[in-house]
Amino acid sequence: MRGLMMDVPLNVSALLDFAAKYHADTEIVSKTVEGPLHRYGYADAAARARRLANALVRLGLAPGDVVGTVAWNGYRHVELYYAISGSGMICHTINPRLFAEQIVYIINHAQDRWLFVDLTFVPLLETLADKLPGVKGFVVMTDAAHMPRTTLPNALCYETLVEAERDAFVWPVLDENTASSLCYSSGTTGNPRGVLYSHRSTVLHSYAVSLIDVFGLSAREAVLPVVPMFHVNAWGLPYAAPLTGAKLVMPGPNLDGASLQALIYDEGVTFSAGVPTVWMGVLNHLAQSGKSLGRLERVVIGGSACPPSMIETLRDRYGVKVVHAWGMTEISPLGTANHPKRKQVDLPPAERDALAARQGRPVFGVDMKIVDGAGNELPWDGTAFGALKVRGPWVCGRYFNSDVVPSHQEAGWFETGDVATIDADGNIQIVDRVKDVIKSGGEWISSIELENIAIAHPAVREAAVIARPDAKWGERPRLIVALEKGEAVTAADLRAFYQGKVASWCVPDDVVVVDDLPHTATGKLLKSELRRLYGSA
Ligand code: AMP
Repeated sequence: MRGLMMDVPLNVSALLDFAAKYHADTEIVSKTVEGPLHRYGYADAAARARRLANALVRLGLAPGDVVGTVAWNGYRHVELYYAISGSGMICHTINPRLFAEQIVYIINHAQDRWLFVDLTFVPLLETLADKLPGVKGFVVMTDAAHMPRTTLPNALCYETLVEAERDAFVWPVLDENTASSLCYSSGTTGNPRGVLYSHRSTVLHSYAVSLIDVFGLSAREAVLPVVPMFHVNAWGLPYAAPLTGAKLVMPGPNLDGASLQALIYDEGVTFSAGVPTVWMGVLNHLAQSGKSLGRLERVVIGGSACPPSMIETLRDRYGVKVVHAWGMTEISPLGTANHPKRKQVDLPPAERDALAARQGRPVFGVDMKIVDGAGNELPWDGTAFGALKVRGPWVCGRYFNSDVVPSHQEAGWFETGDVATIDADGNIQIVDRVKDVIKSGGEWISSIELENIAIAHPAVREAAVIARPDAKWGERPRLIVALEKGEAVTAADLRAFYQGKVASWCVPDDVVVVDDLPHTATGKLLKSELRRLYGSA
């Protein structure tokens, strides 16, 4: 027997409609590429998204077409998210930090019809335009006064386009499994792979991340997504903020510590999210300037392991709670978030800190397991580690326009490429990416664990550990560090710093000091490049 409840499909357009109706004057504040702050309410945003939807039709676009964006976090990008997906088209967010060849590859692979481009990226796209035969035209995301002279073919001005349209547009009611947006995972080897989200997966993910034991969003929060809208939909925040009626604060191109501190302080930001390298910049600025983080209460840190020293500094010096979270482009992105259970609230500080450094428990909707090389499930004892697999309604079932790849070989599960432990409470700890773990004398050494220790040394700004080949042990860990300004440290000092913190055979044998460590397009340590430079014996 079927239930008798209304059959209302989960559509992305409903999120903005809801905010426009019930949180009409709650603000979206954006730092613009042009310079000034822009602010308006959800009702204005929804009206402009409807105008934009009319403009998309006028450009000749139809449901099922892919429309690309190359843009920072800002109000026009929010309008595009809703206008494109709400019309039944697919919003393809493109990471401008990828190598040029990768950008060309993903635009052509996705078959983008039009591209919407922030002013910053016009020069980049000008160099690529002749390699993009399927792109019919470019819309520069600015007003007529700032419209640049450009060699982009069929270049239009965003504001001129939007202003010409009426704000009456009725969002089509879409099957909830219709594709809504597309993001390519920034694999460090091979071509990027497309993850095609649906309206259903996006709305369910938005509900899930809003829960108290995940991001804990509400109509009393001011949310600053530092994580870019071109990287897994800014961890779903442009959807979850309207769903909860939270104020949205967008940093635009200004992601340095000073700009973020000012925005957090001035706009009363209570919640933010980003990768550890971003918070490193903020903490450096705070230490130098003596400024504060105003009303900031919580930050979600993920994308790479958050060092325990960062969790402690934010808590003890600035009164900000870190929620350590884990996810991937393929998981929309949220898989786990770290909040204590009731029985863990009063743990002694050392145990509480050890727990907070893990990546947390799955949110309802995500199921996981760890398996050994033969695919057998491993125990949840916090010690046994193996390949982490996940499944759930917002987990990628197959890559876009691709054959089945090894990560989807076991039916109904996605193999993440991460190695993890799971404890009896379901908390995971990411040991490493499979390809980054150091295999020494038959044992596995976690590069993340060794990096977390090094970063706690006062002279160390950033640390990476890679494997180098070793005749006797197979591989041995090599530590590569960038130091704080004006600091000096010897290899012996750093090796001594490991004593008592890990087994002696895990201590890196040698240390390389560099000016800066290379990062990927999403802010992670670029281990492939480090291995190329420093991975030989
Ligand atoms: P991406 O798809 O670019 O978001 O990258 C996903 C990968 O980032 C995961 O498979 C992990 O290897 C890594 N990652 C994400 N969050 C964390 C975390 N909290 N700790 C350790 N690694 C993480």
